Amino acid sequence: GNQGVLEARKEGGASVTETLTNLGVTAEALNELEIEYVNEQGVGFWIVNLLPLILPVLIIGFFLWYLTSRAQQGAMQAFSFGKNRAKLFSPAEQRDQVTFEDVAGADEAKEELHEVVEFLRHPKKFLDIGARIPRGVILVGQPGTGKTLLARAVAGEANVPFFHISGSEFVEMFVGVGASRVRDLFAEAKRHSPAIIFIDEIDAVGRMRGAGLGGGHDEREQTLNQILTEMDGFDRDTNVIVIAATNRPDVLDPALLRPGRFDRRVVIDPPDIKAREAILAIHVKKKKLADDVNLRAIAERTPGFSGADLANVTNEAAILAARRDKKQVSQQEMSEAIDKVSLGPERKSRRITEEEKKITAYHEAGHALVAAFIPGADPVHKVSIVSRGMAGGYTQQLPIEDRRLYTKSQFLGRIATMLGGYSAEQLTFKELTTGASNDLQKATDLARRIVTEYGMSKKVGPVTYPEREDQVFLGRDIATQPHYSEATAQLIDKEVNVIIEKEHKRALSILRKQKRLLKKVANKLMEVETLEEGEFYSIIGRKPPKRESMLPSEKPVPAPAHTIKTDLPSKQNPAS
Ligand code: ADP
Ligand code: MG
Ligand code: ZN
Repeated sequence: GNQGVLEARKEGGASVTETLTNLGVTAEALNELEIEYVNEQGVGFWIVNLLPLILPVLIIGFFLWYLTSRAQQGAMQAFSFGKNRAKLFSPAEQRDQVTFEDVAGADEAKEELHEVVEFLRHPKKFLDIGARIPRGVILVGQPGTGKTLLARAVAGEANVPFFHISGSEFVEMFVGVGASRVRDLFAEAKRHSPAIIFIDEIDAVGRMRGAGLGGGHDEREQTLNQILTEMDGFDRDTNVIVIAATNRPDVLDPALLRPGRFDRRVVIDPPDIKAREAILAIHVKKKKLADDVNLRAIAERTPGFSGADLANVTNEAAILAARRDKKQVSQQEMSEAIDKVSLGPERKSRRITEEEKKITAYHEAGHALVAAFIPGADPVHKVSIVSRGMAGGYTQQLPIEDRRLYTKSQFLGRIATMLGGYSAEQLTFKELTTGASNDLQKATDLARRIVTEYGMSKKVGPVTYPEREDQVFLGRDIATQPHYSEATAQLIDKEVNVIIEKEHKRALSILRKQKRLLKKVANKLMEVETLEEGEFYSIIGRKPPKRESMLPSEKPVPAPAHTIKTDLPSKQNPAS
């Protein structure tokens, strides 16, 4: 018959003849048929036969591998960031290297850090004569005073690698990780020696030990111990210097400050007027300035500003000028930027009712008049009912000169001024609003400090009673909870009350006497919203204060000294 060759794959369970018979093929036909059995071979065969067996194993295997690799990645992340996350700035990579020239003011701090630069540059000179090279330097200063900048400048001056890590980064870690990261960091720095390790915000790890809640051995403590161990383990000629920065030296663990550790303390003061001018000069270098810009005048109007604030002012001014499509930054933008940095952006669009506007006008007029009629108080620089940031209005006072010391009568005058808004509302509307609550809080705070911090209360005497801290969670604050008696607490409360009541009466009596002026100023405020120094003093029929340098522009540059905002704590508080 048919000579065709057919190829078929046989089922495993039955023989070929069986299968064919089942399909209706007769026995004779089967006999005629030539059947050759061939074992299937090759990749295809293996795939077809083994896949059902291997596939599940493969899938499960892949799954397990995936899971473990994920877990491992997590673990790796946790354990290797000492290497990954400490930022290294080596001299070669540091494109915009910072030097002491980029830091204005802070002359004493620079002087002391110059020594550190010398150690890093010529360690041999010091070692040969038998001097011990300092291990650690701690920079102390308020936020924005240039601590980080100075540390980088030291590295830049010495031309050594700079390892930067922040104390707050340690805090967010798993147990044991902070310590291993410290180990890595120090190992890495030693490898690059001479080098600088910079630990920013060291108070985050360096708080007093032994008082943490929930057992002593927390992460913070292990990290701190590791830092101390590493510093103690430095050889005499290990040329790595650890610089740390903090704005809370009071909460640091004393163990950190022992000889051979952070035994050098460099204090960075807030910039005085000369330093402010110099800082401004650095930050306007790359900006195009109009001829009328007077840095001295800006410095005069920015007491209490930190270096960072001043840098911010120049930048905000440049942004403003650009938005106005100007080619240069003028004094006008500078002056607006000062207000923006200290008070937050203007919010002219905030809608208020006529009633609210009237209350705000009387409230601010009250502050301003009390300030103007208290002998020795800082002159009123600006009064406004334009909402800024969170505040409904503000009254700014600007001292004639920067001040470092304050007398009790100055403090009392400030309290009276703070209560001026409240008193004006009370006199005018026979009803009080919530707008004064922040004033009251600040007045109470200051009164309490007069009693418990400055020893200015006769009854309590020259004793200090530290306040309870906000952060009672970690460290020292709990350990050194003030131990004064209930009787003392009552005495303090009473003295605070006496001060507040007395100053409230003084503010009320000034405003009662000046009722006519209060109305005049408030009405003017409702009309024009903002009164500058000159305008305010002319309304109340007095000479404006003499300022050292007057501004080239018509309007005096407004700047805050201590600003009384109606519902937000002010940025600057020279008394604090
Ligand atoms: P801190 O570390 O003390 O909080 P920073 O060093 O981070 O302050 O300062 C922030 C910025 O403020 C700096 O990058 C710099 O632009 C500016 N700045 C602060 N102080 C000075 C200063 N003395 N001279 C020049 N710029 C300063
Ligand atoms: Mg810093
Ligand atoms: Zn107020």
